[in-house]
Amino acid sequence: MSRTMYAEHTWLELRELSARDDVVVVIPTATLEDHGHHLPIDTDVRLIEAIARGAVERFNQRDSARALLFPTAVHGYTPHHLDFPGTVSLRWNVFVESLLDCGRSLCRHGFDRILILNGHGSNAPLVDMAARLMNVEHRGAVCMASPLYLTTPESVRLLEEIRSSEPGGMSHACELETSLYLALAPDLVQMDKAVREVPEWNEHVWNDWPGGGPLSYWPHWSGFSESGVMGDPTVATARKGRLLLERAREEAAGFIAEVARRPRAPGRDHHA
Ligand SMILES: [Zn+2]
Repeated sequence: MSRTMYAEHTWLELRELSARDDVVVVIPTATLEDHGHHLPIDTDVRLIEAIARGAVERFNQRDSARALLFPTAVHGYTPHHLDFPGTVSLRWNVFVESLLDCGRSLCRHGFDRILILNGHGSNAPLVDMAARLMNVEHRGAVCMASPLYLTTPESVRLLEEIRSSEPGGMSHACELETSLYLALAPDLVQMDKAVREVPEWNEHVWNDWPGGGPLSYWPHWSGFSESGVMGDPTVATARKGRLLLERAREEAAGFIAEVARRPRAPGRDHHA
């Protein structure tokens, strides 16, 4: 049994796998939303799927533990993008509950090592919440979330090394996301329509990969951006995308190893 997709197994095979203590179920999360005039609305879905699949495959090749790729949660939380045609948003609580129900089902079958790999910024606090609730509901479960990719110090070093844009150039439909899309499906990227748009940021309110300023402020996206872009996609290249994809897969494979080996921490109820 060396398949990587959770859903491509029979229930008998999954029952057998669930008896092991070193199986990690990886759940990619994303959303469908505007990504400028030059990228398809599936950008977050395509990118996080490519990262997660590559991470799961390389992890399984080199590790005795086992990772299973769960179907992507395509729809996420993005009501502030609904001014742009094509965007689809779940309500925040529906998104959290849907993840939690997936986690409940997985835990019911004994798959209680779960990693949520998130590919859409506005899902970040919600995947954190879903993973927390899974751990609280299922004592001893090891459920973790990575609120975004390319966030570790090593990844941030690479971003600094290869970027051509100024601070603010990597946020949304930007140098980073466009480079990754160019590396994955160049035929779907309309570079002639890519425009640079960086809002009026200041010391309190700004955004750049992988984080932002000390104040969180997310009104309707159309108030920030005319094209939907936040950043500078005009300097994106497939070469940068290949380097970033490789790093993101390696980073995520490290996250899987963490979830596979983390000792359980069920705690103790002191009322008893
Ligand atoms: Zn995106």
